[in-house]
Amino acid sequence: MDLSELTAAVRADLSHALVALDFDGTLAPIVPDPADSRPVDGTVGALSALAGRGAQVAIITGRDAHTVLELSGLAVVPGLIVEGLYGAESWRDGELTSPPTPEAIEQLRQRLPGIVATGDKNVWIEDKRLSLVVHGRLARDPDAALAPLRAPVLALAAELGFEVHDGRGVIELRLPGFDKAGALRRLVDLVRPSSVLFAGDDVGDLPAFAAVRSMRSSGAAAYGVGVRSSEVPELADSADVLVDGPGGVLELLTALVG
Ligand SMILES: [Mg+2]
Repeated sequence: MDLSELTAAVRADLSHALVALDFDGTLAPIVPDPADSRPVDGTVGALSALAGRGAQVAIITGRDAHTVLELSGLAVVPGLIVEGLYGAESWRDGELTSPPTPEAIEQLRQRLPGIVATGDKNVWIEDKRLSLVVHGRLARDPDAALAPLRAPVLALAAELGFEVHDGRGVIELRLPGFDKAGALRRLVDLVRPSSVLFAGDDVGDLPAFAAVRSMRSSGAAAYGVGVRSSEVPELADSADVLVDGPGGVLELLTALVG
């Protein structure tokens, strides 16, 4: 499948399409400090135009929904759904559905800083309320900065019942049982679309790409768009097509409406 075939397939019944997108690295370029993340210019307009044509637009992100909405300005997109924290919370029409903070998070907050305190100020912890992320992207070599932390972080996660997930220059400790495949399947059950387009750039998106493949093997019009990255070579095998950066995603979104 190439990009033009995929575009034509989704455009054929755009008013019943589900367009589900990761945020960081997919709509917004990867930046060293996640607080600086912004979608490329034109993204809000393109997604609003898609929604205006009747497509259901959704964001499936590892971030909490409110942070993504603040950084992105996407709350103006009509009917937008944001699946935050890998689907542990969901935002729609200004309403956030989110589980209470579990007790184990408090213990993680107390104990993780002791493990991460290596003296390297480029390694720091982001608190996403229901998950904690060890960031190494400010370091010159993020993987080298995170490598010595991996074993003690894994041990603490196992003790407290968290899942450990690697991302681009980050290690994330998450509540068990949530991933982007589950979030995408819930959206499909909710929206009942005639076609599904999912786009992502990172290891955390791989379960959603697998879900897309599985939907298609059961006859659904479901397509995965990967954002090309030297850090995540697995995307080439998981996605149906690859595009270059958030700019490439925006071109595709624009082509869907055009
Ligand atoms: Mg991403």
